[in-house]
Amino acid sequence: MIIAIDGPVAAGKTTLSKILADRLSFSLLDTGAIYRTVALASRRQSVDWSDEPAVAAVASRLELDFQWLDGTNHVFLGGEDISEAVRTPEISQGASLVSALPDVRAALLDLQRHLGEEGNVIAEGRDIGTVVFPAAELKIFLTAQPEVRARRRHEEWRRKGIDHSYKEVLEALRERDARDENRPVAPLEPAADSVLLDTSELSIEQVVDRALGLARDAGSTEISG
Ligand code: C5P
Repeated sequence: MIIAIDGPVAAGKTTLSKILADRLSFSLLDTGAIYRTVALASRRQSVDWSDEPAVAAVASRLELDFQWLDGTNHVFLGGEDISEAVRTPEISQGASLVSALPDVRAALLDLQRHLGEEGNVIAEGRDIGTVVFPAAELKIFLTAQPEVRARRRHEEWRRKGIDHSYKEVLEALRERDARDENRPVAPLEPAADSVLLDTSELSIEQVVDRALGLARDAGSTEISG
């Protein structure tokens, strides 16, 4: 069974996916981390983020691996744990830029399908329900007001010691959303058969309850909690 969780920047997809994966005993596929890894690998190879053929070549050679360690999903590039390195504001912008390139998306499609093909998976991203796994049994489109999402991301970065003002975070978030929504290939949009979940005024517990109910209706069984 596949549960697709799509939505804009900082809608809470990763938090929800992780809790659902725990409660349902599903594995996780964080496709945003894959685009982030392409941005980081390109930067390290001095490939410009706008150079489509070169970035697509980096994407097609990606030595990527995910491992579940100490309760979190870690991403590895050629054996190196890059989980923190891909979460900086700079690499977030890079991921947003490289993910708008059609050849890069094409190069990553098989990899994503391969990673998600076994067992029960929660896959999160922007185009999971529309392009990567259009036959997913449950599709959730998670969203919230931009100001709410910017506030959450600002808090998260502040805790990590990343010094960006709320205004800068909101601007970067709007810019990335606009790029995702307006790109010609696999734009960010809810699949016709997705369930829209606006978390602006919901607590994490309320979002989790709602999503668990949907997962149950779609045929999955909760194992704990
Ligand atoms: O979800 P996350 O913020 O980690 O994703 C990083 C970037 O990768 C996003 O800003 C988005 O542009 C891109 N992305 C995408 N398609 C996906 C997942 C992420 O275009 N399925």
